[in-house]
Amino acid sequence: MCIIAKFGGTSLRDAPAMRQAIKVLCQHSPANVIVASALSGVTNALLNLATNAAGHCKDQVQSQFEIIELRHRLLSDQIGVSRDVRDSMESLLKEMRMRLEGMALLQEVSSRSMDLLLTTGERLSSLLLAEALNREGINSAVVDARKVIITNDNHGQAEPDPVAIQKAVEEHITPHLESGKVVVTQGFIGATRDGITTTLGRGGSDYSAALLAEALAAEELRIWTDVAGIYSCDPSVVPTSKSLPELSFHEAAEMATYGAKVLHPATLWPAVRQDIPIFVGSTFAPDDGGTWIRQSVGEQPLVRAVVVRKNQTLLTASNLKMFQARGFLARFFDALARHDLSVDLVTTSQVKVSITIDNPEHLNDKVLCELKEIAHIEIEENLALIGIIGHDLTREQGFISQAFSSLDDQIIRLICCGASDRNVCFLVDEEHADEVVTTVHGSLIENREHYEVETC
Ligand code: ADP
Ligand code: ASP
Ligand code: MG
Repeated sequence: MCIIAKFGGTSLRDAPAMRQAIKVLCQHSPANVIVASALSGVTNALLNLATNAAGHCKDQVQSQFEIIELRHRLLSDQIGVSRDVRDSMESLLKEMRMRLEGMALLQEVSSRSMDLLLTTGERLSSLLLAEALNREGINSAVVDARKVIITNDNHGQAEPDPVAIQKAVEEHITPHLESGKVVVTQGFIGATRDGITTTLGRGGSDYSAALLAEALAAEELRIWTDVAGIYSCDPSVVPTSKSLPELSFHEAAEMATYGAKVLHPATLWPAVRQDIPIFVGSTFAPDDGGTWIRQSVGEQPLVRAVVVRKNQTLLTASNLKMFQARGFLARFFDALARHDLSVDLVTTSQVKVSITIDNPEHLNDKVLCELKEIAHIEIEENLALIGIIGHDLTREQGFISQAFSSLDDQIIRLICCGASDRNVCFLVDEEHADEVVTTVHGSLIENREHYEVETC
């Protein structure tokens, strides 16, 4: 039986959390391969550091860097690492510092150098986790994920190559497993066939774990995080939401795609390809159960969940020539694709097309110039996408009016429904997003018979 476990950043944030993660492995759910995220906050801090380094904010870089150093040194002291591990940790911290100095010198951060810098977070956490496991008597070996997660060279959002991964796993991971060791590796990071470091996109450790589960034809993938499963809404936004005992691959994919941060959206693809069940549970409350994600599930309620994704940008292109013209949309979408803009929602009218963009950082002057040659462009920022996830939504009589009746006092910027009967999505101002999801969750899920809100 081969089990892959992934621990997120909060599960490895400090020594007590790491001890708890090891307790989960020893007492609840052993694993053959463990995928580690960077300590919580480290990837964000490194992104900030890179911006500050390139922007010549030397003092800020120094103080932020010292915090990262301090956290890792404190953790290593608490684990009681060997001299070798301490030296490896120090050389990783040195590498981190050198990469930042390079960015400061060049006053520039390329996506390739950013990937190199970001990997240091996961390389440090995996090194310390493996040592902590060894100290608990679990014989473990660290495998550099860059040897196994083979990707293309799309830095920051690299696409894995499952066939190459399978081969690399047989070469670099299987021998350790055969000798009875537990393999610890990094989430989120990979490399091209030529060994150039890449990353899979924010939150990508879940995806790494699923790719390894696929390559090893694992029986289970266990994602250990800071909540006891996938809830009917983000519990940090709607505390009355409940953990869902089971979800189908499709439901989980829809939820992750439209905003449930608890899972990276691509995690489901490898699991579906190999039909590997995924469990999502809390490192800190392993007895509270969690969510099993499988091919098929028993109950299929009309509305399963409400999700929210913030930081959305709405781009509207209008051109009177679009009326009864041919090829306008093709040119518009072609320009977006060439500039790597990821489009989610789309609505069109006679002379306008509106889209939401999930990666607005790619919306630079060059793209805008090109788009403005095609049409008049308007941009609205600070929006939130709300997704209602369920079954046969667009075929259920009265559902749309029920969904929106509780939102009479809200301005809804755009509604997308009909393309899939598994979701209905709409946009609201980000500042009202929490209030809107709470209302929609209340009216569509909590109002259902049998839903009891627990009170303490
Ligand atoms: P990790 O560091 O373990 O990868 P993440 O922060 O990426 O953890 O994901 C866990 C967080 O996802 C939770 O703390 C929760 O606030 C958020 N989240 C968003 N939507 C959901 C949901 N539907 N169910 C559970 N958690 C959710
Ligand atoms: N450390 C990476 C991030 O924060 C990957 C992950 O945690 O999944 O995005
Ligand atoms: Mg995550």
